Amino acid sequence: MPYTLPKLPYAYDALEPYIDRQTMEIHHTKHHQAYINNLNAALEKYPALQEKTLDALLIELLTLPEDIQTTVRNNGGGHLNHTLFWEWMTPRAEKEPRAESKVDDAIKQTFGDFAKFQEQFNAAAKTVFGSGWAWLVVDKDGKLIIIATPNQDAPIMKGMHPILGLDVWEHAYYLKYQNKRPDYISAWWHVINWDRVEQMYREIVG
Ligand code: MN
Repeated sequence: MPYTLPKLPYAYDALEPYIDRQTMEIHHTKHHQAYINNLNAALEKYPALQEKTLDALLIELLTLPEDIQTTVRNNGGGHLNHTLFWEWMTPRAEKEPRAESKVDDAIKQTFGDFAKFQEQFNAAAKTVFGSGWAWLVVDKDGKLIIIATPNQDAPIMKGMHPILGLDVWEHAYYLKYQNKRPDYISAWWHVINWDRVEQMYREIVG
């Protein structure tokens, strides 16, 4: 099987009280695992596609055999998005990016200040209708923008590189926050791994 569940870089209860242990455990071992199982099953009869990276599969989605396009879109996207999502969180979070880090400068240049960025990101996350994600991405011109995607669509499908993303599917917050998505969004800002965000930003813009 080409894809396997990555180990979380922290314990299931490490993000308490912001994200609860039960949600993390079910999200990781059940939801993320299901995306991987479905993706592997779809690729089973196409060994050549197993050699490609997940990014490549999603970028070339429309060239894939028709019978697996939707499965790869939903479950390949699901695997990619969640793999990134776990890395963007840490129990040792700072409130903001390090002063004068590259991503700190870029956020301030693009959005004015950190608070304005946060406001725009929150608005995007709150207004995703149904299931989806809010993202801070580097677009094709190397600029930072905030976008939202439905379901498990990944920014790379539009040629954009995510450096931070928030899962706003109900499975990501319902056990603790029920219908109060804005409370979950506010809590999430306490667990962001800005060093990882900075690292990803540097990998993309050099
Ligand atoms: Mn999820």
